[in-house]
Order: sequence, then structure tokens, then C-alpha cells
Amino acid sequence: MGPPGAGKGTQSERIAETYGIEHVTTGDALRANKEMDISHLDGEHDTPGAYMDAGDLVPDAVVDEIVERALDSADGFVLDGYPRNPDQAVALEGMTDLDVVLVLEVSRETLINRLTGRRLDPETGESYHVEFDMPDDEAVRDRLVQREDDSREAVENRLDVFERETAPVIDRYRDHEGYVEVDGERPPDEVWAAIDSAVASKVEGS
Ligand code: AMP
Repeated sequence: MGPPGAGKGTQSERIAETYGIEHVTTGDALRANKEMDISHLDGEHDTPGAYMDAGDLVPDAVVDEIVERALDSADGFVLDGYPRNPDQAVALEGMTDLDVVLVLEVSRETLINRLTGRRLDPETGESYHVEFDMPDDEAVRDRLVQREDDSREAVENRLDVFERETAPVIDRYRDHEGYVEVDGERPPDEVWAAIDSAVASKVEGS
């Protein structure tokens, strides 16, 4: 868990590879289904994409089902981007127990900088940054795109949504025996080293 831009995607991918488990990410699942018709839910918008582009949460009914299906077929998993509000946390409790609850901590200033500068290669899915990490290949540089919800306005909203909806979920897990906080301000490899040893000790200790 952690705010948008904390490195959840990058680090949970590494957890999945290292421990040979499923990477279950609601953000990616929703991005693949942005145009799905969810008008029957009578929410503010008729598709997941409309919520996402504004930086708002997609209705619980949609994400709960994505996670329930993914966990049904997974033999071990790392959940990335879920639960994001207290009701989702309750839904998750009905689906499974957690061994480790990992929280990445990063300041708001760093998050804004990381997210608004992030660029994606639509062909490979690889993520870059306009200041810190641009590809050498000019052809790749020319095709980079910005995620709709990485605009300044959507980023500010996503961070507010995190504070309002997701921070209380983290508080809920503080007493969980697998709870670990990791300083996510550092370079990805250093963050990974901290995560890997924390996960290994929690899993061995359980
Ligand atoms: P992410 O890639 O994790 O930053 O997620 C991108 C967007 O997908 C979020 O800003 C939300 O609009 C939506 N989303 C992802 N996970 C959830 C979730 N658990 N609940 C509601 N909306 C979500």
C-alpha cells in the first residue's frame, strides 16, 4: 500500500517475480477495461476510465469483483492498489488473510514530481521520467506518452483521495502482525532491498 507514485507497481512486480506469486493489480486490470459499461451501477460515470482520468476511485463493486476473481485462481499473490478504502478492506477480509502488509512512505512533494514527470512507452509498457530517466533511443523518446491521470490536476486529486480514503485503511492495518513501513524516497534498488528482507523475515516468522 501507499500513495500514488510511491512505487507500488515497480516493487510489487519484483515481489511477484522473486517469490513466484501472482501480481494482482487493480490499476492495470481497470486500465485494460477502461471502456467497460458500468452504467447499471448508477454511479457518477458510466465507465471505469471516466473515474480514472479524473483521479477518482472506481466503484467498489467493480474492483471487489476483479480482486475476488483474481484471488480465486491465484496460488499466492501480491495485491497492488487494493484495498483503497475501508469498505474494500472489509470485502478483502471476507476473501483471504494477509501475511504481510507493506506500506511505502513518500512525501507529497516527491510524489507530485514523480507522477507529473512520468512518461510511458505504449509499445513496451516501460515507465520513464522526464528529469531522471529518459530512454537513449530517440525513436522510443518520440513515442512516449503521459498517463491521462498523471496531469497536475488529476495527481493533486489522487493524492487527496489517498489521504481521505486510503490512509484510514493503512491505520486499520497498523496492528497487523505482518505490518511493515518502508521508506520509499530512496532509489528503487534500495527500496527493493528493504522490502525483500522485510518480506522474507515476516514470511519466515509466520
Ligand atoms: P493505480 O495504477 O494503482 O495508480 O490506479 C489508477 C486508477 O485506477 C486509480 O486512480 C483509480 O481510479 C483506479 N483504481 C485502482 N485501484 C482501485 C481500487 N482499489 N479502488 C478504486 N479505484 C481503483
